[in-house]
Amino acid sequence: MKSIIILGDGMADEPVESLGGKTPLQFAHTPYMDKLAELGVTGRLQTVPEGFHPGSEVANLAVLGYDLSKVYEGRGVLEAASIGVTLQPGEMAMRCNLICIEGDIIKNHSSGHISTEEADELIRFLNENLGSEKVKFYAGVSYRHLLVIKGGDKRLSCTPPHDVPLKPFRPLMIQPEVPEAAETAALLNDLILKSQDLLKDHPVNRKRIAAGKDPANSIWPWSPGYRPAMQTLQQMYGFKKGAVISAVDLIRGIGVYAGLEVIQVEGITGLYDTNYEGKAQAALEALKTNDFVYLHVEASDEAGHEGDVQLKVKTIEYLDSRIVRTIYETTKNWDEPVAIAILPDHPTPCSIRTHTSDPVPFLIYKPKEKADFVTIYDEFSVKSGKFGILQNNEFIQELASV
Ligand SMILES: [Zn+2]
Repeated sequence: MKSIIILGDGMADEPVESLGGKTPLQFAHTPYMDKLAELGVTGRLQTVPEGFHPGSEVANLAVLGYDLSKVYEGRGVLEAASIGVTLQPGEMAMRCNLICIEGDIIKNHSSGHISTEEADELIRFLNENLGSEKVKFYAGVSYRHLLVIKGGDKRLSCTPPHDVPLKPFRPLMIQPEVPEAAETAALLNDLILKSQDLLKDHPVNRKRIAAGKDPANSIWPWSPGYRPAMQTLQQMYGFKKGAVISAVDLIRGIGVYAGLEVIQVEGITGLYDTNYEGKAQAALEALKTNDFVYLHVEASDEAGHEGDVQLKVKTIEYLDSRIVRTIYETTKNWDEPVAIAILPDHPTPCSIRTHTSDPVPFLIYKPKEKADFVTIYDEFSVKSGKFGILQNNEFIQELASV
């Protein structure tokens, strides 16, 4: 049997007063997810193991059944893989933001969401001036870039810049966690200060300031890691060939290390205006030549971060009518049956506008297999499903078992 996971990022939520005490998933009109819950089996999955923060990289790795305590290396290495940089042993990668500093204060973590084109020029410039055998900058998307240090020691205490807007940057610079990492910390802090010198008068920034925009006048490296010790899904679960579809570089990077082919789809944005139909078609196409597809849709998470309940309901309804429906209606007529699993990676409750670690509701539909008694897909109804709360790789094992 082939299988597809349709993952609505951050889709789970909590009861919302303006929805009559229902969650967005309960309130939204989702006939197809409900139908698959009725035909399939349901439960909850603990996607954030104890001791880990509820980040999308943690939760998506857990959905795929990885043991976080063994494979977690931060987001830098995963984003690196998605832009084609696979780390070699002995190399350390870090997420490298281009941030905006005003005086000594971190004004924002994104340089006012600088364009990829402008950022690309700045990162190249930094690489020409600060790059060496040991230090390499790679351009990513908008303010999100990559720094690779040969021989770097990852035992560092770093601050994610989005957590510290309007704070003075100097006390937040990188600290070694062990004496052996002192040299790496010193190198990185030196790079931060030198980048500020180099960037302040760069023509790209002069133009941005003249246009009333935030200059990208400092790098901010964080989330250090080595090459993750990830086996592929083929090795772990016996899938023969798999593919991943996502607008998010982090998820595509997980796919690379998981042994999945990264499928590009035009017009995908990570927002509610994403090309849902294009993703559904690409997934169907991928299912013809693969036996496993991971289809990740970011939109509901963004709505949660914006605290926009109505938008979140809409993104869930779009997922149902423009993806789940197409996948189910098309594959049900195929000769080779296709199992469909649906779940979020973590909740992103609109009320708190950030992720939580609560277990997430899932459904697994396998054509012709016995259903449980749950007939609706949402956070509460699946509590009476077949599985209770699954841990570790139990969910993907269940999906992969014939
Ligand atoms: Zn997420």
